Amino acid sequence: MSTAAPINLLDFDAPGLAAFFASWGERPYRATQITKWVHQQGVIDFTAMTNLSQALRARLGAETVIQVPEVVTLQESNDGTLKWLLRVSGGNCIETVFIPENDRGTLCVSSQVGCALNCSFCATAKQGYNRNLTVGEIIGQVWLAARHLGQHPKTQKNITNVVMMGMGEPLMNFENVTAAMRLMLDDNAYNLGRKRVTLSTAGVVPAIDRLREECPVALAVSLHAPNDALRDELVPINKTYPLAELMAACKRYVGSNPHDLITFEYIMLEGVNDSPALARDLVKLLRGIPAKVNLIPYNPIAGADYGRSPLDAINRFRLELNKADILTITRKTRGDDIDAACGQLVGRVEARSARKRLHAMESRP
Ligand code: SAH
Repeated sequence: MSTAAPINLLDFDAPGLAAFFASWGERPYRATQITKWVHQQGVIDFTAMTNLSQALRARLGAETVIQVPEVVTLQESNDGTLKWLLRVSGGNCIETVFIPENDRGTLCVSSQVGCALNCSFCATAKQGYNRNLTVGEIIGQVWLAARHLGQHPKTQKNITNVVMMGMGEPLMNFENVTAAMRLMLDDNAYNLGRKRVTLSTAGVVPAIDRLREECPVALAVSLHAPNDALRDELVPINKTYPLAELMAACKRYVGSNPHDLITFEYIMLEGVNDSPALARDLVKLLRGIPAKVNLIPYNPIAGADYGRSPLDAINRFRLELNKADILTITRKTRGDDIDAACGQLVGRVEARSARKRLHAMESRP
C-alpha cells in the first residue's frame, strides 16, 4: 500500500478535476457532478453522491479524500463580523473573516500561512512566513463559510463577494490562488461574477500582468504612499517594484476595459502618510488610471508604533481626492473587537522564515 498522502479532490479546479477523472478513464462530466456536490450542495461524503456509480463511489472513497481545514474557533464580533481560526497542516493556523453588510456579505480569505512581505504596520508580517496554502486550504475557507452561513439561524447571509485580503500575499502563491479563484467563479461551484472576486496585492508587478492574462478578477493594490521614499519604508516590496513600475502594471491591467477600475488601499497613519500635500501627490500619481481609493483607518497592532489618523485628517485627505473627482471611501472598521479587522489577522505560524525570503526578494534578479 502507498503511504503517500491521499489525493484531496478540493485541490482541483474544474479543468484539474476533469484531467484527474480522465486519468481514471472516467468521462469529463464526472468532474461537473463532483464539483456540484461539493461546492453547491456542500456534500463531501462520497456515499451520498447518488448520481455516481457504486463502483466509482467506492474507488473515490478508497483513493481520495475531500478535506477541508479544521475549525479551531469561530468568534462573532459585536457588529456581526465572524472570524474563523482554522488549522491547516504542520501545526499552522490561518484566519478567515466574514463581514455582513446590508446589501452584501464579504468573505476575506487567506492565501498563505503568514506573510513574507514585512509591511511595517501589519500584524501578519510580524508573524513571519511559513508556506503557501494549497488550493484545498484556500477554497476550503469558502466551503466552510458557505456551509456555516447556510445553517446559521441568525445570519441567513450569503457570500456575495470574496476578497483575497486575509493573511498572506496572494500573488506570491499564484497557481493555487488562481485555481481557487476559478472555483469561486465557476458556475458549477460558487458562481461569483469576476467583479465580485477581488485580489489585493502589495504590488508583485510581474504577477499582476500574469493575473490579467490568466484570471482577470477585480484588482486592489495596497498603495499606502504616493512616493517611493515613503513606500519603501512602509511596504518594502516597493524596493523591488517601485511605483513607476507598479502604476504602469495597473494601467495595463485595466487596459482596454472601460468598465474596470482599480481599488487603491491607503492606510491612514497619523503624521506619516496622511497630509493634504501627500493627498495631492496621490492625485498626480493616479492620473490616467481608472481608480477608486479606499482609505483604511489604521488598526493598532502589537509591535508597531503608529497611530490612527484622526477623523478630521482623514476627511481633509479625502477632500483633496474628491476635488480631483477620484471616488474615495473611508473603509469602516469591522470586527476589531475580535481582532478581525484589516491587518490584524495572525493565525499561528510555525517555523518562520520571513526574513530570509524577504532578503531574497529585495535583491531582484
Ligand atoms: N498582501 C495583500 C493582501 C492583504 S490585504 C496586500 O497587501 O494587499 C490586507 C489589507 O489590510 C492591505 O491593504 C493591508 O495593507 C491592510 N492592512 C495591513 N495592516 C493594517 C493595519 N494594521 N490597519 C489597517 N489596515 C492594514
